[in-house]
Amino acid sequence: MSDLWERVQPLLARVERPSRYIDREWGAVHRPDAAYRVALMYPDTYEVGMANQALQVLADRLAGLDDVACERVFVPWTDMSAAMRAAGVPLYTLESCLPVAGCQMLGITIPHELTYTNILEALDLAGIPLRAEERSEGDPLVIGGGPSAHNPEPLAPFFDAILIGDGEEAVLEMVAAHRAARERSATRAETLRDLAGIEGVYVPSLYVAGPDGALVASAGTPERITRRVLRDLDAVSSPVCPVVPYADVVHDRATIEVLRGCSRGCRFCQAGMVYRPVRERQADAIVRDAIATLFCTGYEEISLTSLSTADHSQLEEVLRRLFRRFEDADVAISVPSLRVDSFTLSLARLLGGGKRSGLTFAPEAGSQRLRDAINKNVTEDELLETVAAAFGAGWRRLKLYFMVGLPTETDEDVVAIGGLVSRVLAVAREATPPAERGGLRVAVSASTFVPKAHTPFQWEGQLPAGEVRRRQSLLRDAMPRRGVELSWHDAETSFLEAVLARGDRSLADAIEAAWRAGAVFDAWSERFELSRWTAAFESTGIDAGARAHDPFAEDETLPWSHIDSGLARSFLLAERHRAYEGIITEDCTFGDCTGCGVCPALSADVVVAGGGRRG
Ligand code: SF4
Repeated sequence: MSDLWERVQPLLARVERPSRYIDREWGAVHRPDAAYRVALMYPDTYEVGMANQALQVLADRLAGLDDVACERVFVPWTDMSAAMRAAGVPLYTLESCLPVAGCQMLGITIPHELTYTNILEALDLAGIPLRAEERSEGDPLVIGGGPSAHNPEPLAPFFDAILIGDGEEAVLEMVAAHRAARERSATRAETLRDLAGIEGVYVPSLYVAGPDGALVASAGTPERITRRVLRDLDAVSSPVCPVVPYADVVHDRATIEVLRGCSRGCRFCQAGMVYRPVRERQADAIVRDAIATLFCTGYEEISLTSLSTADHSQLEEVLRRLFRRFEDADVAISVPSLRVDSFTLSLARLLGGGKRSGLTFAPEAGSQRLRDAINKNVTEDELLETVAAAFGAGWRRLKLYFMVGLPTETDEDVVAIGGLVSRVLAVAREATPPAERGGLRVAVSASTFVPKAHTPFQWEGQLPAGEVRRRQSLLRDAMPRRGVELSWHDAETSFLEAVLARGDRSLADAIEAAWRAGAVFDAWSERFELSRWTAAFESTGIDAGARAHDPFAEDETLPWSHIDSGLARSFLLAERHRAYEGIITEDCTFGDCTGCGVCPALSADVVVAGGGRRG
C-alpha cells in the first residue's frame, strides 16, 4: 500500500487549517510495518474529534497489541473534501497517510444524530461502499459504537457491526476475532457471525424485520443484544500519553475519566441511564495517572471528567493531593461537570485555589414542580447557596443549562426560568465585592428536549418546532435584561435530532438521500439546511413530523427494543408515571437500589471508591 503524502501535500496550501490533515504531533504512534491496521474515526473535524476521550482510550488499548497499528481519521471539511475528490485522493489515516480502505477495520464513534451524514461522507471519500451488503471481502470491517449506538437502527445498514456499550475490552476481542478469521481464510459473512458472538456486538445484517415490523434474529444469534459493561474502571489504566495537537482544538487540555455512569436518574438523560451502574476510579489511580499525563503531554491543565465529577466520593482527596503535588507549578485542575447539590463550600474553596475557570450548573427547569417531574433533585435554595459559595470563593463566571419542551412543561415553568436566573444574579452580585460586580455575567443556555431511547421519556414525542419557538420567545421575554447572555438551540436542528433519535431502519434511505443532496456537518449552524432533509424525507416516504412528535404507545415495539441496555422496561415505565405524578426517585449510590435492573442484568455493581455507598 503506498503512502498518499505526495498527493496530499499540494492540496494543503489551498484549504483552511491545513494542520487538520497532517500528522507527527507529540504522542502519535507509528507502526508502519504492522500486519493489521485499525482506522479509528470521529465523524467530525480534527479539532472536534481530538477532544473525544473514547478515541484516546481505544487507541491506547490497541497500542498494547503486537503487530497492530491504530491510526486516526477525521472528516475533512468541505474545502478539503472537494480538493480530495478533484485530485482523486481517497480518505487517509493521519499517522501513515495510507488509504482508509486499505485498513482491516474502520471503527467509527457515533456521538450524536447530527454526525450521521458525516459518516456517509467519510465512507464515500474512502471509497468504501456505503451499505454493508455492498462490501466485498477486501473492504475493511466497518464497526460503530458510542452514545448514539443505543438506537443503532437508522444507521444499521451502513455498519457491519455496532458495539453497544463500553469498548475497552470488546475492541480487543473484535480485533482478535477478525485476525483469527483472516488466518483461517474465513469469509466476511463467517467473520460477522464470529463478531456477533462477542458480548455487546450487534451485527445488523443478522436481524431482519418480521411480519409485525419487529426485528427477528437469524438462527444462532441472540434475540437481544446485551450492552457491554466494563465492571471495574481501575482494571484498565487511563491513556497517559495521548496525542497532543499542534493546532487549537476543543477542550485543549489533558483529561482523566474519574468515574463512569450517573444514577441521579434525570428522566430525560440517556447518558445517565445507559452508562449505569456508577463505577468510580480509586483516588490513587486518578492521582497517579493525572501526574503521569501532565508530565507526558506537557499540558498545564487537567480536567477530571465524567458525567458528574463532584459526585466522586474521593474528589476532595484527589484535588488536595494534586494541588499539593503542583503547588509550585502553573497547573490548573478543572472539574467540568458539577451538580448543584454536590458542590460543597470546601470544594468551592479547593477549586478556587486553582485557575478560575467558569462554573457550569444544569438546573434544567425553572420551577420545583418541573424539576421534580424530570427527577432533577435540586432545590432553588441549594442552587442559590451554591452560587453564593462559589462567588464568595472567587468565581465570576457562571453558565446555567435549561431545557425547553420537557414533558408536562407549562408556560409558567418557562417563565419561572427567568425568575430563577434573576435570583441567581442577585445572589452572585451580593457575594461579589462591589468593585468586581461590573463584569458579572450569567450565561443561560436553553436546549430543546429530544426524547431518547432507553430513558423514562422514550415514549414521549417532541413539541412541534413552532411551539418550541413560541416557548423560546416566552423565555427571552422572562429573562432579566442586564447581566444575562441567553442562547438556545435552533428548533429545526432539534427536530432533526428527534426524528433520527426515534427512528427505525427505514430512516437509512433518508439519511443517504440527505447526504446525496449535500447534507454534511449538520451540527455546524453554517452548514445546516433543513430543506435538504425535508426533501430527503419526502422522497423516501418518511413522515418526519409524525416520527418526531407522535408519542409511542407503551405496549409498542420500539425501534431499539432488541437492544438490551440492562434497564428493566418496568422501571422505565414506572419512572415515566412517577414523572407525571411529580414523584422523585433517589440516587442508588447514596442509598438503596431503586430497581433499575442494570446490576442484575449485566452482572455488575455500583463501585464507590471508598467502598459501600456515598454520603
Ligand atoms: S440495579 Fe440498583 S444499584 Fe444497580 S444501578 Fe440500578 S438502581 Fe442502582
